[in-house]
Amino acid sequence: MASSEPVPTIEAVAPGIEAVVIPSSRSAWLSEGGLPVRAYVLEGAAQPPDSRPPVLLIDAGYAERLSVEAISTALAGRPLRAILLTHLHPDHAGGALALAARHGAAIRANPEALRSHAAAAELRERIEPIVPGETLRCGGLQLRAIASPGHAPGHLAFHDPERGLLWSGDAILGAGTVLVGPPDGSLGDYLETLDRLEALEPLERILPGHGPPVEQPRKRIAAIRRHRHMRLDQIRRLLAERPHEPDEIVAALYAGQIPDALLPLARGSVLGSLLYLEQQGEAVRHGDRWQAVT
Ligand SMILES: [Zn+2]
Repeated sequence: MASSEPVPTIEAVAPGIEAVVIPSSRSAWLSEGGLPVRAYVLEGAAQPPDSRPPVLLIDAGYAERLSVEAISTALAGRPLRAILLTHLHPDHAGGALALAARHGAAIRANPEALRSHAAAAELRERIEPIVPGETLRCGGLQLRAIASPGHAPGHLAFHDPERGLLWSGDAILGAGTVLVGPPDGSLGDYLETLDRLEALEPLERILPGHGPPVEQPRKRIAAIRRHRHMRLDQIRRLLAERPHEPDEIVAALYAGQIPDALLPLARGSVLGSLLYLEQQGEAVRHGDRWQAVT
């Protein structure tokens, strides 16, 4: 019987690199901005030349069967050497255990990522640590792990300095802005991450965890930074008028501008901004009300 559910697709994004684009409608987890999550298959050089080329996987999609099958199909019989996880949210790490078991691959991530509220307990014993700054190698591929916390603790991006590619996970999306708020997020960390990613050389193209490739990376990073500061300024102005509850701020900034389904994400981002202003000594909280420090 034909299904009306959207199905995963495999997109060639560069020579030897494919994105498995996995719709989120089957999962209770609301992916960032409603954009399908992307897992990437990277092919290294075969050794010896007539053997099957080894591959790396960056992120592992959902735990659901449809997602795991789509990624397995994309591997196309090539040996999977390792699954590199940007962070441990279920749309990125959910399929890791099933894929590792099926293909005999190592699961690698920053151990800091286990602090995420959404990290599956079973991953704790399975993760082989990646140290930020470490270079990961496979069949001639070289990827440098870049610390990029803010959206989630221990978040890593992966930089290919030879081709100027950056796999950004949820640190930079292909469209829209990502949730940076409690319990996993820190806006202070996120703003530092934007600086760190912007400084990478060379930086030709970003392959994000959600949304299409970013062809003008520095422009996009600058736009995201401007957007965050614009939101902070809006919140500063509201707090300067009178004390506000987070929901009042969400209503003032977002009501009617985004689908209702995304309002919880907006609320999370408002809380993230308020906590940032508190850390900066610009705002204080009295119960549920926040006010400017004058
Ligand atoms: Zn995430």
